[in-house]
Amino acid sequence: MIEQSSPTTAATPVMSECDVLVIGGGPGGSTIGALLAQRGHKVVVLEKEHHPRFHIGESLLPANLPLLEKLGVAEQVKAIGMEKWGAEFVSPWHASKSQTFMFADAWDKSMPYSYQVRRSDFDEILIRNASKMGAEVIEGCKVKNVDFDSDHSGATIHAQHDDGRLHDWRAKFVVDASGRDTLLGRQFDVKRRNPKHNSSALYAHFTGATRLPGQDEGNITIFWFDYGWFWFIPLVDGATSVGAVVWPHYLKSRAKPVKDFFLDTIAMCPALAERLAHATLSSDVEATGNFSYSCDRTHGPNYLLIGDAYTFIDPVFSSGVMLAMQAGFVGAETVDICLREPAKAKSALANFDHQARLGPKEFSWFIYRVTNPTMRDLFMAPSNIWRVKEALLSMLAGDIFGKTPIWRSLALLKGIFYAASILNFKRSWQAMRLRKSNIRVVDAETVAR
Ligand code: FAD
Repeated sequence: MIEQSSPTTAATPVMSECDVLVIGGGPGGSTIGALLAQRGHKVVVLEKEHHPRFHIGESLLPANLPLLEKLGVAEQVKAIGMEKWGAEFVSPWHASKSQTFMFADAWDKSMPYSYQVRRSDFDEILIRNASKMGAEVIEGCKVKNVDFDSDHSGATIHAQHDDGRLHDWRAKFVVDASGRDTLLGRQFDVKRRNPKHNSSALYAHFTGATRLPGQDEGNITIFWFDYGWFWFIPLVDGATSVGAVVWPHYLKSRAKPVKDFFLDTIAMCPALAERLAHATLSSDVEATGNFSYSCDRTHGPNYLLIGDAYTFIDPVFSSGVMLAMQAGFVGAETVDICLREPAKAKSALANFDHQARLGPKEFSWFIYRVTNPTMRDLFMAPSNIWRVKEALLSMLAGDIFGKTPIWRSLALLKGIFYAASILNFKRSWQAMRLRKSNIRVVDAETVAR
């Protein structure tokens, strides 16, 4: 008779300890992991994949650069980045056709550019940096769930390595940086779809696309078309990332393989098709559906939700990576206070909550309206009356967490938008009804398949 090892013994997890356990080694997790380790905390970052790994989201904002400087990785990112000095908007409905916003024209002129990056390279720089700063980084290890102590003194994190080994950690504080997996949001059942926005995306890489000349070569271009908009992001190695962000019902109408559907969709946008006339598809075409959501909370007594683990709305203004890293910076300050000065934890967590909600709130006003005809008019014929264009550019640069005094001018811009909408009441009413029907929920599985 064959003797079997006891299943209980085989499945008994290894137990380790740390101060802070970070779930996910994307930009958010690697940032907070590095900063907390630098402050002397014993940090473990668990990443389910192995870097370098593919990730969508290649366009950074100027406000990313000071964060990269502070992390000490600015030079490394410069080496893999394509300089992005501005953003071009192309509309088939306007005589001017194209309008370019240069970050140098923003309110604060000290952040004139950013980078386009391959996320596999960028994310690897950040996670290796976390390790260099003293965090223990473990790749190929997926967190399954977290048991929080009822007295909030700590938590047990249950994880599993690629090879099947179970591993538990005891930690005083947990940071969920698991991105769109939203581990804690799902565990607590606090993840909600965004009732005001809904979109889906198709994307791929091309080689040989026609780029803008000179310094504009690395600019992002946004092309509007009937079913949403496209991004065109030039990368430093000659590849160009192209994606269509479309209404979910449009993606659901697909009756052919995703690659053919994507190419047909590109053909609906002649200005983009022209830029891709001599280009070759150099990757698979990916699809992702219904991706606008938010969690009801940003934190608990001994945990934070940062970056996409808290919320994601839409990629149109390339804000995702910056917001995740910014949350990493504020989050590190917050966790440090919670661990060292528990008496100040409540106000530190309240401040984190405010900061975590600020970015998504400010960007969402523009995101919800980006396909609105009045907003398109404002983007295609920008005026700098009351410095509204400078304020808008600062917003698009991600300069919303510092002291740049853009808020009054942004409020005026919003006022101009509402006034223009009333003047074009019939068009605005029709646009509102169309938007309502466009953001209706469709089966996510069908969309992304
Ligand atoms: P992520 O980058 O997703 O990192 C999360 C990490 O956690 C991943 O590495 C994942 O493997 C790991 N993980 C998940 N679950 C577990 C687990 N259980 N255990 C261990 N590890 C786990 N943003 C921009 O700034 N610019 C853009 O141009 C842009 N374009 C986009 C286009 C599309 C179509 C979409 C959907 C998003 C885009 N974004 C863009 C958003 C951007 O990708 C995200 O906002 C950004 O990656 C968020 O960083 P993060 O660290 O929060 O999450």
